[in-house]
Amino acid sequence: MNKNLFELRECALKEIENARKPSEIAQLKSKYLGKKSKISEVMSSLKNLPIEERRETGKLCNAIKKQIAEALKTKSEQILSESSFDIDITMPINKERGSLSPITIVGNEVCDILQKMGFAIVSGPEIEDEYHNFDALNIPASHPARDMQDTYWLGSNKLLRTHTSPCQVRAMERYGAPLRIAAPGRCFRNEDIDACHENTFFQLEGMCIDKNISIPNLIYVMRTILSEIFAQDVQVRLRPGYFPFVEPGFELDIKCLICGGEGCPTCKGSGWLELCPCGMVHPNVLRISNIDPDEYSGFAFGVGLTRLAMMKYHINDIRVFNTCNLEELDQFGIV
Ligand SMILES: [Zn+2]
Repeated sequence: MNKNLFELRECALKEIENARKPSEIAQLKSKYLGKKSKISEVMSSLKNLPIEERRETGKLCNAIKKQIAEALKTKSEQILSESSFDIDITMPINKERGSLSPITIVGNEVCDILQKMGFAIVSGPEIEDEYHNFDALNIPASHPARDMQDTYWLGSNKLLRTHTSPCQVRAMERYGAPLRIAAPGRCFRNEDIDACHENTFFQLEGMCIDKNISIPNLIYVMRTILSEIFAQDVQVRLRPGYFPFVEPGFELDIKCLICGGEGCPTCKGSGWLELCPCGMVHPNVLRISNIDPDEYSGFAFGVGLTRLAMMKYHINDIRVFNTCNLEELDQFGIV
């Protein structure tokens, strides 16, 4: 039996030495080390041998397997190092190139505009804790506003953030006042999905805290962002809105860019489109993060980047963003 094994080894090493292609190496690997190889056959018949012979033959089989495996590896590396590729630089390039997502494009644009106005770009974790997502934003456990946001709870007071507002809290904790930050990012809500709603969407949080900050500062910043994004002078208006972390709170509307304010199906005939919640930072929110509301005031806003991208590129179904279907995105001339 052992004589056969030695012969087998010689034969294998010779064949490996003569191999010239990676495909031959693969074939030899299967022939000498695969499940149906001679060595595997011998090893599975070991149990029928007397104990002494079993031990000796088993040891030999393992040693030979190791030698063959090493020879295969060495030869394979040698073949790869000797192979050369013919490169034809006149070959046409693959025209199907990728591009940034429309949400990323719009997000980058907003960040650029805000950076020019002195805002720093910050980020925060997508898995948040209850304190940063709710408590520090003036939304304690008993507050009815918690029910306004259908939350994915992860246990141990962890959750998928429902908005980018926790980034405000983390920035105030870290940098104090005065402060100007913008935080783009992904948010999650446990919502039924339709043409206007997604359980995963992108927001951009903006916050400015300084002495004597007031509502006109907020309006100026929002108008500047939107006019640059849409490359035209846009009109905005504020309507009272309730959000626990701002006081007063507003809904910011933008004059419909499709009909110019005349009224159309997109703006449901009103001439205005609801764009983002905003307002003056609630004194409680400042106080929780150790900023004195008697000395400082500020504004905050949360722009829906997904909605902004839909308006800019005239995408009427929010679901296309997460389909990963290039044909769907191609129709908007983005990809
Ligand atoms: Zn309209």
